[in-house]
Amino acid sequence: MINPHYGNIPPSYLFSEVAARVSAYQDAHPDERVLRLGIGDVTRPLAPAVVDALHDAVAEQASGESFRGYGPEQGYAFLRDAIVAGEYAPIGTAIAADEIFVGDGSKTDTAGVQELFAADATIAVSDPVYPVYVDSNALAGRLGEFVDGRWEQLTYLECTAENGYVPALPEAPVDLVYLCSPNNPTGTSLSRADLERWVAWARENNAIILFDVAYRAFVTDPTVPRSIYEIEGADEVAIEFGSFSKTAGFTGLRCSWTVVPKALTRDGASLHAMWSRRHATKFNGTPYIVQRGAEAVYSEAGREQVQADIDYYLRNAGLIRDALRGAGIDTVGGVDSPYVWFRCPAGLDSWAFFDVLLNEAQVVGTPGVGFGPAGEDHFRLSAFGTYEDTLEAVARISSLVPTLHSTTLIRSES
Ligand SMILES: *Cc1c(COP(=O)(O)O)cnc(C)c1O
Repeated sequence: MINPHYGNIPPSYLFSEVAARVSAYQDAHPDERVLRLGIGDVTRPLAPAVVDALHDAVAEQASGESFRGYGPEQGYAFLRDAIVAGEYAPIGTAIAADEIFVGDGSKTDTAGVQELFAADATIAVSDPVYPVYVDSNALAGRLGEFVDGRWEQLTYLECTAENGYVPALPEAPVDLVYLCSPNNPTGTSLSRADLERWVAWARENNAIILFDVAYRAFVTDPTVPRSIYEIEGADEVAIEFGSFSKTAGFTGLRCSWTVVPKALTRDGASLHAMWSRRHATKFNGTPYIVQRGAEAVYSEAGREQVQADIDYYLRNAGLIRDALRGAGIDTVGGVDSPYVWFRCPAGLDSWAFFDVLLNEAQVVGTPGVGFGPAGEDHFRLSAFGTYEDTLEAVARISSLVPTLHSTTLIRSES
């Protein structure tokens, strides 16, 4: 009677285990100041232009003439037009407003997209990976059993130091591949050449790319594509997911968009028509007030204010990256991304390094193994803290790392 696939999925243990270890440490050492570089959430407040737009929209809801109830399921035209003008027109893509679907978060959208595909559709993800892509397919029964930390029917595209943490094309054909650029957790981004390879591969193999651009606002390198639609022919093979969460601090407000191009068809069916039907059936729209707030991100003041917050986080990312490199650790990410990713020093595994960092430096990070088997022995530090905390944390890391090799040796001898 119940969905048996809920029984297959392992408990999501990463962030609860992190929280448990931090609170145990803090209880035992109430005077120590623990610095959190593990967070995958923004900390800067909303931009003033967004807050003003929210206030105005609230006032509209208070009057009979301007009150709004149910809105269009695809999102209000003012926001869809603003997304096209702010995100897609400037980079020379031909995405039209009616190819944009406004949602309440990319987690919802990336978890829901698998409903468009057959129960036996085959899936590939990069490893390590944002867990939502995997878990949503696991619950739909596409991944088989979870054995020794791996799903039997999932293709893992390992991202390691050897390949520069960039996923290689699958060796055997798959129907769907989830890609995220700039990526969470590795902070790496796909170059134009990488994306051209992916689009050509999808076209040859009749595959569909599900492309997550939640971190696109962090891209500073002008050669790194901000959208898969910058690649010719991608509109016939790709769905793209954007979010205001990391770009504009909407993790609490909730607003996102999905692009389903009209040119994307399979087996004679329009994916645009299918997503439209699915959206209308299951979703009654992002709140009007929130959509007005999102629209304000594209106002002149909004753009400047939001950019200042991105720059703030990127400055933190630079501090983290420089400190680790200064301590002799190779890193990726932290340039076009708020995350820095690296192999744990002194041969420690992810949880052992987590404990050393917490106990010896009072700094919290995220163990890489929580993002997939290839994340073992790796670690993610996040730039979403305050500048002051980040400065202090990197100072502590810089003095800790040189001592690590000897500390680990002494421990294993005793
Ligand atoms: C944070 C994040 C999102 C955004 O999720 P929302 O539901 O829009 O807050 C999407 N994808 C990745 C990889 C993320 O890390």
